Amino acid sequence: MAQQKDKIQKQYFGRILEGQYSAALKTRVSEGVGVFVECEKIDHQIIPYIAAWHEDDRIIWYEYAGQEFCDLLDCGFEKLAESFRKSIIDQRVYRYKDREKKVEEKIITRDELRGAWKGLREEVKESGRVEAVYKVLTSDNNTVWLKDQASIETFEEDNTCISIGFLTDVTKEMELKDLFERIGYIDELTKLPRRSILDRILEINIGNLQRGHIADFVLMIIDVDHFKLVNDTHGHQAGDYILATLADVMTSTTRKQDEIGRYGGEEFYGFTVGDITIGLKFAERLRKRIEKYKFTYKDKHIPITVSIGLVSATQAGKVESLTADQLIFLADKRLYAAKQGGRNRVVSDV
Ligand code: GH3
Ligand code: MG
Ligand code: MG
Repeated sequence: MAQQKDKIQKQYFGRILEGQYSAALKTRVSEGVGVFVECEKIDHQIIPYIAAWHEDDRIIWYEYAGQEFCDLLDCGFEKLAESFRKSIIDQRVYRYKDREKKVEEKIITRDELRGAWKGLREEVKESGRVEAVYKVLTSDNNTVWLKDQASIETFEEDNTCISIGFLTDVTKEMELKDLFERIGYIDELTKLPRRSILDRILEINIGNLQRGHIADFVLMIIDVDHFKLVNDTHGHQAGDYILATLADVMTSTTRKQDEIGRYGGEEFYGFTVGDITIGLKFAERLRKRIEKYKFTYKDKHIPITVSIGLVSATQAGKVESLTADQLIFLADKRLYAAKQGGRNRVVSDV
């Protein structure tokens, strides 16, 4: 115990424990520091920290930070806040509006950062948690992505907020994501994978099927019904809104093993490993969810339905000679049948 206290004092470089602050705030910080000191004894990839700021000047300082943070920026603890601020090249903030829905990503560049910082902190104070990723230029001129996951606590009596959390090095993940964006993996409007990715998915899964790694898979093509009418009645922007919202509605309906992408225009694709029965359930789930969803643009309710054509790999013919074109041809044919049959339906067997 005495040893731990000694260690805390050695590593402590903040202001709260030795300043004019409430007992509640002091206890919280000292407990936090104690836990983090212990945490740091374990060899892992995360950097714990406690930051603090006064509500009136909003200038951040650190009460505690893992040694690695200082090493990364090549500075002492007292210079940490300033060095960090100067090293940030770009920042992405993640908002979880709704657990069910897709995470919203906002990219804030360094120039915008100064202005956005205040608003961000206000917002974070309200929600009580932050998740952001910072692109940081390190002292040796390397670029590192740090993910910040923290919760914010407000001590009204002290007019002070503290942020307790962890930084994680997510450079590998973010570089991959950037690469995907550069090679055009993601469609701008819907944030879904593009058509070219479907070709790759089909190629890989035909291979898996032929090698016997999987027993079957299902491709579906999903087409919005009378979409031209939506554009004509409500305008192209309303149409864009519908496509982006549809993408959200569909991705929130998928399970981990399902894929949804934008095929082109108002057409989407769905992919899942499994037989036609599983595919049908997936397609029906999508169709019903879309039919029920209240799409609202500028206070106007716009009812939307989709038609879906689906095909399983084993329905399409001989596995040895199966091609992506065959699957797409059949899914398309069934989609056409769904349209002919009156729309807002799923067809899996023509
Ligand atoms: P159907 O039920 O037979 O599918 O009728 P539809 O009106 O949906 O089909 P059609 O192929 O006649 O029209 C598709 C429309 O989708 C025409 C095109 O302008 C619109 N569209 C395609 N891509 C986009 C887009 O990115 N944004 C908007 N707003 N409209 C788009
Ligand atoms: Mg179409
Ligand atoms: Mg259509």
